[in-house]
Formats: sequence, C-alpha cells, structure tokens
Amino acid sequence: MLKPKSFWSETVSSDTPRPTGLPQSVDVAIIGAGLTGLSAARTLANSGLSVSVLEAEGIGWGASSRNGGMLLTGLKVPVGKLINKFGLGLAREMYGASLASIDCVERIVRDEQIDCAFMRSGHLAVACKQLHFDDFQRAAERLARDFNHEVRVTSRQDLGTEIGSEVYFGGLVDESSAGLNPAQYVSGLGRAAEKSGAQICEQTCVKSVQREKKAASPGFRVETSRGSLWARHLFAATSGYTGQATPTLRKRVIPIGSYIIVTEPLPEDLALRLSPRNRMIYDSKNFLHYFRLTPDRRMLFGGRAAFFPETPSTVRKSATILHDEMLSIFPALRDAAVEYVWGGTLDFTFDMLPHGGEIDGMYYAMGYAGHGVAMATYLGAKTAAMIVGAENHNPFTRVPFPRAPFGLYNGTPWFLPLAGAWYKLLDWIR
Ligand SMILES: Cc1cc2nc3c(=O)[nH]c(=O)nc-3n(C[C@H](O)[C@H](O)[C@H](O)COP(=O)(O)OP(=O)(O)OC[C@H]3O[C@@H](n4cnc5c(N)ncnc54)[C@H](O)[C@@H]3O)c2cc1C
Repeated sequence: MLKPKSFWSETVSSDTPRPTGLPQSVDVAIIGAGLTGLSAARTLANSGLSVSVLEAEGIGWGASSRNGGMLLTGLKVPVGKLINKFGLGLAREMYGASLASIDCVERIVRDEQIDCAFMRSGHLAVACKQLHFDDFQRAAERLARDFNHEVRVTSRQDLGTEIGSEVYFGGLVDESSAGLNPAQYVSGLGRAAEKSGAQICEQTCVKSVQREKKAASPGFRVETSRGSLWARHLFAATSGYTGQATPTLRKRVIPIGSYIIVTEPLPEDLALRLSPRNRMIYDSKNFLHYFRLTPDRRMLFGGRAAFFPETPSTVRKSATILHDEMLSIFPALRDAAVEYVWGGTLDFTFDMLPHGGEIDGMYYAMGYAGHGVAMATYLGAKTAAMIVGAENHNPFTRVPFPRAPFGLYNGTPWFLPLAGAWYKLLDWIR
C-alpha cells in the first residue's frame, strides 16, 4: 500500500506539545524551525541571548525532515566554475566550508547525543555518459592539486564494487561524505536548541515584519498568527518556503520541487548487491537522481520528477515517474513494492550558491541547492555567530546575493517550465 507521506516521519515519535505563548520581546526572533533556524537558535541561546523560533507548521516540517539525508562534500557549483568565478582563494574557502559543514553536523550529533544513524559511508557520483566520466577524472585531479582533497575515480569495469547497476560509465567516490536520518536529526536539533534555552513556537506563522525602535534601540515588530512580538534582531531561515513576510529574500530564492519514493525493506543479499558499500549515490545529470539505502535496507530513490513545488498531484505523478526510472537503473527491484512517496521544496538561488549574512538589517541563511542538510546546519550557526559579534569565517557573506536579471522575478517562479525544458535539453546534448 503506497503512503503519500515521508518514510522518515514514521521513524520519529511526535514530541510533547510546546507552550505557544509569545514573549513580548526577545533578542532574536528566527523565522523557520528547520536546520538553519534550529542551528542558529542553538548557537544564539548558547551565547546567552533570548531566542524565539517562529514556525508556521511544526519543527522540521519543511525540507529539513523530508530530504535524502545525504551530507555531501562540495557545492552545487563544480570547483572549476568556482575558481573561474571567484579565484582559487575564495573557491578553496567555499569548498572548505562544505567539508567543515559535515564535521559540524558530526560534532553536534555527538555532543547532543542525537540518535539519527549518522554514518560516514561516503558518496558515489555515477557518470551517465563517457563525457561525464572524463569530467570526474579532471575534477579528481583538480581536487587533489588545488584543494588538497583526495577522491577516487572508479572505472566502468570496477564499478560493480560500488553499485549493482550496469548503466553507468564509471564513478567518483568521496569517503568524507555521510548519511543520516533527517527527521531524527532535525527533531534532535530542536531538542538541543530548547535545552540551550531557545523557545520554539510551532503553528506560528509570521505575517509581516516592520522595523520598529524600542527605547531608542533599533529592532523589528514581528506580526504572527498568534500575536506580535518585538525583536532586537531578526533571522530569516525559511529557505524554499520563503514567503511574503520577507519580500527582499523571496525575490532571491527559487523554490524547486524534489520527490522521493521508498521501497519495502529489501532482502539483505539484494541490498548488498545494489549498494555494496552503502554509499550516498547521485548521478551526473542536471535532472539528476539520488539514491541510498535506509538504515532498515529500503531503497530511497529521489529526483526532480516535477520542477514545481509539491502538490498532491505532483507527488502522485512523481511516484510513477520515479518508479520507472528506478527500475531502469535497478531492474532487480521489479518485485520490490514502493511503500512511500513524498515531495518537498528545495531552495535554489540565481548563482546556485548558498548565501548567509545581513540584508535590510535582517540576518538570513539559505540557498543550499540540494546540499542543505550539512550546509544549513553550518550556515545557521555561522550567521548566528555574526549576531553575537564573533569573527566572521563565512566565505558566502563575501558574495552578493543576486536577484534575477532585469527584476524579472518577484517570487513566483513563472520560468520553471522553461528552465526544466532547458536542463532536459542540456542533458540530451551533453
Ligand atoms: C525531497 C528533498 C530531498 C533533499 N535531499 C537532500 C539531501 O539528500 N542532502 C542535502 O544536503 N539536502 C537535501 N535537500 C535540501 C535540504 O533538505 C534543505 O536545503 C534544508 O533542509 C534547508 O533547511 P532550512 O532549515 O533552511 O529550510 P526548511 O527545512 O525548508 O525550513 C523552512 C521552514 O520555514 C518555515 N516558514 C516559512 N515561512 C514561514 C513564516 N512566514 N512563518 C513561520 N515559519 C515559516 C516553514 O514552515 C519551514 O518549516 C533536499 C530537499 C528536498 C525537498
């Protein structure tokens, strides 16, 4: 029986309801209780500030509890392009941040004793064409030479040690990447933020924010569905769900749908054949697939089956599309029932890079482009550290947060069908 809900959500017990009263004023109000907001809240509360996290739904309701649970090295933008655009120095810092972000999650999981099946099982990128495999070889050389980071290229002949599929032209293995159960992780991070003293207000939708002074101190009046509060600082952590309350950010974030199916638990020998080293796997297309085994040996298979954010209709259609695509890669799964399907909204930006810093007096971190499990945790903490005046080690604050050319985007992504067609064409050409 196919359930239209996240498999991960069934692995966490619902927490006890939280008090919903809002304080009159706080040092920092954070909009959004995903990984960005909760990581920021934990950092700020540990520094002694009063913090309220305002969440329209529940903890982790957004992308943070429904993703693939892959903590991947690197960014959406390949290292060669980063160097061409920003020079080697800044490119190194950005790539270094991706490595540091995984260490950051590992440390939090250990320090806060979050039971979320964190494991450094590495990732495997698989090449859909010979050209892509040639790119892998060049990327591996460049990472070793310019970034002092070793990855391993695996030829088509040897790929059977990594994946039980015949369709790929080779692979690239990075042992530094990791996996976890995202719903357990974000729920544990919420508990950790509360333990540090942060207040989390669920079912509290921020309707508007206005600058307002209090006793000559600059700050913000925050109107919510449960009343209003005044905050000395405001931190937007809304990623792909950024809405009307923060129009400046809404014009800079493109919400894109991503969808996942999960099979029934697989027999041990079959699971071992399909993914002998339990890697986090993704392919080399623009319309990419990503897949992994869950801790209880199900195949989790995701992709951009529809470009638009999730609706019951896109979720239903994605189940069929993803199932067909999964079988084209793993015919051995033809008898495995698909038990779950769901979707969520990713946060892309016009330069495909994450951004974190200050805009119009408001702090923010977002734009992780499918690399947010580790980077949201990291940038949430780094941007929070800016509020408490710590030295800023965040390379992404040095890059302007771009809007669409000619102001052609006001938050409604009218161009997604065109972008989808363009990327499909690119996948076909190259
Ligand atoms: C299907 C899918 C698979 C993915 N797989 C991976 C993966 O394997 N690896 C990886 O690194 N990344 C992955 N990602 C991306 C990753 O999950 C996100 O980048 C990350 O979770 C973003 O976290 P966040 O806290 O910034 O945003 P979110 O978790 O999206 O949280 C934003 C929150 O803000 C709240 N909000 C919005 N507006 C308001 C308002 N006005 N008032 C109050 N609350 C508001 C929302 O309710 C939401 O809970 C995936 C994403 C999806 C959708």
